[in-house]
Amino acid sequence: MTTLLVSQTNGDKHQTPQGHAERPQRLEAIANALAQPRFSALSREAAPSGDLALAELVHSAAVLNAIRETRPAEGIGQIDADTFVSSKSLDASATALGGGLRALEAVIMGEVHNAFVAARPPGHHAEKNRSMGFCLVNTIAIVARQAQRLYGAERVAIIDFDVHHGNGTQDIFEADPSVFYASSHQMPLYPHTGSPDETGVGNIVNAALKPGTGGDEMREAYRQLILPALDNFAPDLILISAGFDAEKRDPLAQLEWTGNDFAWLTGKLMDIADKRCSNRIVSMLEGGYDLGGLASGVGAHIGMLMNGQADSAPEET
Ligand SMILES: [Zn+2]
Repeated sequence: MTTLLVSQTNGDKHQTPQGHAERPQRLEAIANALAQPRFSALSREAAPSGDLALAELVHSAAVLNAIRETRPAEGIGQIDADTFVSSKSLDASATALGGGLRALEAVIMGEVHNAFVAARPPGHHAEKNRSMGFCLVNTIAIVARQAQRLYGAERVAIIDFDVHHGNGTQDIFEADPSVFYASSHQMPLYPHTGSPDETGVGNIVNAALKPGTGGDEMREAYRQLILPALDNFAPDLILISAGFDAEKRDPLAQLEWTGNDFAWLTGKLMDIADKRCSNRIVSMLEGGYDLGGLASGVGAHIGMLMNGQADSAPEET
């Protein structure tokens, strides 16, 4: 497999208050992990700036208007209890989007088999009409729409293994049968959506996992529920909302996944991408707030994307 890593070089332009879990150091932890020799075969690019006017594909004008009105000349403004916007947050958001769109182009045009985008802020909580949950605009939703508009993808699947339910992505696509959205997440947990009975127009699958459960329960949920539905959907492209806050060290949640669990899950999604869509996967960073857990999870995920099998790196404890 040829795997592209698209990295954001201005991620630190989006500032959050001291002590906030979603912080620029997350990208440094990922960069350090991916500097190891076992990732030397990665194709690497810097994320270009994207056009945030594309947000109107998935959001009402109220979303960008609220960000602009809240954005201070300097310092940090606040959108809700845990969502912040700094003077340069829109610059970071534009490169997060540009990175996603570049990864999409590279995968669709066959330059690489799959791609991972290391960028922030995350996006999957941003709904049609509001930013929330550390997320300003729903980057992966815009990428899904562009896959349809620019490249003629008819059926786009978004698999979200962040420990939180991607309420924003579900909100945007729940009435659209051309987009499949499946999420595994801890429940109860913020944002308290994602009940298994939320099924959209038959295009939404929610697997709720109890706090304290680990890889066995996760694998069962994917085997029984998400993977068969994804296969049945027969996607032209698989997008991944790749959050690593289900990792056992994460401070915001209580699932007990290990690096091997992220690798297993990635491999299962690759199997369906091989069968259905010429291996096309674009994976985009969402959450993950323990820096060691984030590095471990990303390493396992990308190691699998590159090699198609779990690599021999020892499991971190
Ligand atoms: Zn999360």
